[in-house]
Amino acid sequence: MRSETLPAQAGARATRGHASWHALLPFAVLLILSLLLPLTGNDYWALIATRAAIYWILVAGLNLIVGYAGQLAIGYVALLTLGAYTTAVLTGGKLMAPMPVWGALAAAGAVGALFGVIVGLPALRLRTFYFAMTTLGFATIVTQIALAWQSVTGGGVGLPGPDMPAPFNSAWGFYYLCLGFAVFCTLITANVARSRYGRALIALRDAEVAAEAVGISKPGLLVKVFMLAGTLAAIAGGLFASLQTYITPDAFTFDLSLLFFISILIGGRGSILGPLLGTILLTILPEIAAPLAAWATFLYAVLLLAIVLLMPGGIAALLDWRNRKPLESGRAITPRPAALAELYGQTLQARALKVQGAALAFGGLRALDGVDLEVAPGQVHGLIGPNGSGKTTMLNVISGYYQPQAGGVLLGDSPLPGNAPTKRALHGIARTFQTPRLVGEASVLQNVMMGGTVAGRASFIEAMFCLPRQLRDEREMAQRARVALRVVGLEELADVRADRLQHSELRFMEIARALMLKPCLLLLDEPAAGLSTEEILRLGALIKAVSAQGTGVLLVEHHADLIFDICDHVTVLNLGRVLAHGTPAEIRVHQEVVSAYLGA
Ligand code: ADP
Ligand code: MG
Repeated sequence: MRSETLPAQAGARATRGHASWHALLPFAVLLILSLLLPLTGNDYWALIATRAAIYWILVAGLNLIVGYAGQLAIGYVALLTLGAYTTAVLTGGKLMAPMPVWGALAAAGAVGALFGVIVGLPALRLRTFYFAMTTLGFATIVTQIALAWQSVTGGGVGLPGPDMPAPFNSAWGFYYLCLGFAVFCTLITANVARSRYGRALIALRDAEVAAEAVGISKPGLLVKVFMLAGTLAAIAGGLFASLQTYITPDAFTFDLSLLFFISILIGGRGSILGPLLGTILLTILPEIAAPLAAWATFLYAVLLLAIVLLMPGGIAALLDWRNRKPLESGRAITPRPAALAELYGQTLQARALKVQGAALAFGGLRALDGVDLEVAPGQVHGLIGPNGSGKTTMLNVISGYYQPQAGGVLLGDSPLPGNAPTKRALHGIARTFQTPRLVGEASVLQNVMMGGTVAGRASFIEAMFCLPRQLRDEREMAQRARVALRVVGLEELADVRADRLQHSELRFMEIARALMLKPCLLLLDEPAAGLSTEEILRLGALIKAVSAQGTGVLLVEHHADLIFDICDHVTVLNLGRVLAHGTPAEIRVHQEVVSAYLGA
């Protein structure tokens, strides 16, 4: 067994090292080019490059919100404005004694963190365009305040930006300062993106329900990201004020907001390199085509249309040649249940699930009407019944999406509250979905790693700086995910984008994700739908092996063969009520079940 698994792991490690080398190369080239730029001795290029670096400092943070979390924050120039004015006012001494520029920049960062959260809060309740509108509204308010609060901001006349101390008071000195900070921002946002926090962000974007099921809580995560992005944007604002030497409200136009937002769109969502190149491109473009400057907005619109129509994945997808390699066709999924022991370790705290008298009506429709159900540890419990009989609703009650109107759910001795789907993973309850829910743009491995989110120990700050605990988290999670993939028979596809998998592979991938939790209760919603006969047999053996580890399995299924083959106990639902329950042998010959569901 050992000798068989070791080469597979070594191979996986080799491909991973390969991948990270490929990923770092473009950044290294960009860095070398930027370090060599001063050799041109051209002060005009110093200005443009400094501006690109400052814009990237803002876009790097915004990228986590827009590109990763998928939130349409289009009015982000507001935070640049806020940072620019805070820095300029504090160093100018209009409000109190003049502050040194570093202190003022730090203060701007703190103000940015606060307002980043305030601007972001509506995102927790409002969706897409409504949130976009609130960010735009905020941008208008900030400009209006800058205009009206003349005694401090100088109103329409404006005020001077901060002077930098030596050696940052020359064009190239200031460039190096901004470049250094831009590199720092690239590093910390890339670290966040590669951590479980980054995976959680894209999970919330593409598969919110699955994200909640693995224990990701949207408000907690978004607030952290809004703080980070707000801080970076406001510091960018302070540097921008210094670059401009003098700031007025009309320096902060809607065009700038568009530039930030579109840099991310043309860069590609869920990428760091793409938006970085996008920012550089959009900063340089109006300069090399100076006559076009007046047409900037029009240009952006055309560019955006072209991107959406011609390359929806943005620059990042264009550069992702690894995922254009065709996959082997006619792939067979061969699960290796023997590897489960490695995944589970020794102890699983076994607990029984008890549902007592669960009732839930949608309007007048009684989806569940007083259902009792018990899943013993180490057993496979089948839940069957005609379409619309309430099976999925039952799983949703157990996994906390719905609060039953009567009755309750107990795991062991602890009652599980309703309306708390993100708390279920902590109790060791994992599930799959009737239609697979996954992040298509992330690799199979990343999708599976999401299942281990609650096992992560490193804080957001530790993730930002890639501290030892973060490194350990990642190593352990990736290793566990590879074992989980081996269990379900998908380890060969670990590094492939999930949206390139076949339907049956996605079903097995969801099971691997659920197994990451080492669940004491596993809920499977029609896992055999769309599988071949051969695959169903393998799935059955896999489910049996999972239950043998002590996990209670609640299996919703239509394939009668699978149910009768592997279940220890079966409950039949009809119109939200329990029609019958018993062993497969009893159910198979149950008069009413045969006439209502199984047929002759
Ligand atoms: P099954 O999974 O057994 O096919 P479901 O549990 O999905 O059935 O649905 C049971 C009944 O509840 C169906 O009639 C369905 O239309 C209804 N239902 C399920 N979810 C909702 C909802 N969110 N709103 C309204 N009706 C719902
Ligand atoms: Mg269903």
